[in-house]
Amino acid sequence: ALEPHEATGAVDDALATELSAEFARRHGSAPLGVWSAPGRVNLIGEHTDYNKGFVLPFAIDRRAYVALGSRDDGLARVSSTFTDEVVEVPLEKLSPELLEGWSAYPLGVAWALLAQEAPAGESGVAGVGEVGVAGIDAAAAHPAGSHPAGGESGSAGARGFSLHIHSDVPIGAGLSSSAAIECATAVALNEFWELGNTPKALARVGQIAENQVVGAPTGIMDQSASMLGRLDAAVFLDCRSMQTETVALGLAAHEYEILVIDTKVSHDHATGGYAARRASCERAAEVMQVDSLRELSPADLPRMRAALDDETFRRARHIVTENDRVEATVRLLETSGPQAIGALLDASHVSMRDDFEISVPQLDLAVEVAQSLGAVGARMTGGGFGGSALALVPRALRPALEAGILEAFAQHGYRAPDLFVVQPSDGATLKGQLR
Ligand code: ADP
Ligand code: MG
Repeated sequence: ALEPHEATGAVDDALATELSAEFARRHGSAPLGVWSAPGRVNLIGEHTDYNKGFVLPFAIDRRAYVALGSRDDGLARVSSTFTDEVVEVPLEKLSPELLEGWSAYPLGVAWALLAQEAPAGESGVAGVGEVGVAGIDAAAAHPAGSHPAGGESGSAGARGFSLHIHSDVPIGAGLSSSAAIECATAVALNEFWELGNTPKALARVGQIAENQVVGAPTGIMDQSASMLGRLDAAVFLDCRSMQTETVALGLAAHEYEILVIDTKVSHDHATGGYAARRASCERAAEVMQVDSLRELSPADLPRMRAALDDETFRRARHIVTENDRVEATVRLLETSGPQAIGALLDASHVSMRDDFEISVPQLDLAVEVAQSLGAVGARMTGGGFGGSALALVPRALRPALEAGILEAFAQHGYRAPDLFVVQPSDGATLKGQLR
């Protein structure tokens, strides 16, 4: 079983002091403690999660911190350094319909933890029902009568809380600032309410909040990486069995770095595009008479080509070949180290560009320039239609590669991208740093 380290989630004195002061200013009291959870980058395995396939993300060295304090008036009251707005809702009034904007992430998690049963309408979401969540499926984690959050009636009796968020995960850069906030909130409330959920169950809580409250039909990859990440390792997640495995990346030992190139392109049709790709995958699975595309392998491609229209075939081919690439990546990391996975990263990008058609010219340029300047491999990462690319690069070549990318973007008249190195890091803190 994976147990996240406590190490990299630790708050240094300066940050602890700042968070406490900010908490006091917004909420008029002192926090009980601080919890944190990281953002993530997906090394390989794109759009495979909702097809019950494989993903290989890692947690990064940028985190969301939450300071949490107790209240005796039954309110859930949340604030964040990124806004002056403070949102408060009586716990028993929490509902998906009521919550909106940034506060839907932390309050959605509170709601998901307290809801008695998994809400309806989740078909197609990876992992539904496979991980018990205390509060959602109280019987799975607590013997009858021992439910510390307030017994059988959801929020009844649950203690109110104040929560202040401070995050250094950039928003909308493809690093899942949303999962960082969900997971940091989930570990904080899980300890505060003594719910005893496992890290995997808390990942599921974050996903439920994002699906049901925020309204984004995303899979469970982001929250799994944020909860289960380990230093210098990736999280290999089978979205059908929900089994996870830590895979050493060995970046430091081999003198490699992962550079993220945030193109800052965000397309209006990103949400619609995501839904359309999901629909194509579901259609392909239906025609091929399988529960999900996970059931198909590269050996089935000729059969798929004969049965599917060209566009649906190419969408499905991306999923089938991508699952294969994720498994191959894990094998190569285990046997040969990071220098061996370049061709798989490159092939993943081509598949997303040509078959799944979710790349944009800026992402293609970033990938091409990185490859031409010595990256071992490069690919777009995340849902697509903009966002970020990643390059696996020998440490010594990184400065030249950064300069080359900036120059190429300028030459094309593209907005300058943000470039940053991300380090595979430990996941969420399960125990708060108590004061
Ligand atoms: P990302 O790819 O970064 O996850 P999302 O659109 O999924 O992008 O989530 C970003 C949203 O998460 C923001 O619009 C905001 O509502 C919320 N969020 C991110 N960071 C913070 C923060 N520091 N404080 C409050 N809310 C935040
Ligand atoms: Mg997000």
